[in-house]
Amino acid sequence: MSKIKAEIIKYSKMLNSRKLSALRSGNISVRYKNGFFITPSGKKYSSLKNKDIVFVTLEGRFDKKIGIPSSEWQFHQDIYKIKNDAKAIVHAHSTNATAVSTHKRGIPAFHYMVAMAGGHDIRCAKYATYGTRDLSKNILKALKGRKACLIANHGQIAFDENLSKAFELAEEVENISLQYITSLKLGRPKILSINEMKKVLSKAKNYKRG
Ligand code: 13P
Ligand code: ZN
Repeated sequence: MSKIKAEIIKYSKMLNSRKLSALRSGNISVRYKNGFFITPSGKKYSSLKNKDIVFVTLEGRFDKKIGIPSSEWQFHQDIYKIKNDAKAIVHAHSTNATAVSTHKRGIPAFHYMVAMAGGHDIRCAKYATYGTRDLSKNILKALKGRKACLIANHGQIAFDENLSKAFELAEEVENISLQYITSLKLGRPKILSINEMKKVLSKAKNYKRG
């Protein structure tokens, strides 16, 4: 348990150091037994201690006396309930993903690396107030067949089979977002066909080697 908490703190601090999320914005969780460990609400990552990391059950129960979980515990809960392959979740207010999200639009196949999120595009979840079940519903819709999405006027979210991979996917989404914004400065980028993206998606399964 303390190993999982230490890992969450390590990656929370990396949200700051890798410029994925400033101060206390965003949140991180890791699935454990019948629930998940999650970062606390409103605490700067730089000050996090093991005792601050909160356990929430898949039914949404937690002990307030121990700590207040991230205000977004509901979308973490719903993702773990619906996606069996989700073992860790990273939510970030990374600058470029957030900038695209404020246009309430996703990222089309302007570059084949969009496939890293699991499909031929990266969708943008509809806006809802942070920390609500409505936001969670919108995110689940955008994550259909995907491991990452943008969240309108808010940021991005990524999950994977462990925290290292979920964090890396969030970094990929941020990098793709920067490239997309840059490409838009030259006009409308040419979008790859669904057929080409199908080829990429089957190739990409064996791409990562370290
Ligand atoms: P928390 O500190 O409650 O996790 O809130 C940060 C955030 O990103 C809300 O969307
Ligand atoms: Zn947020």
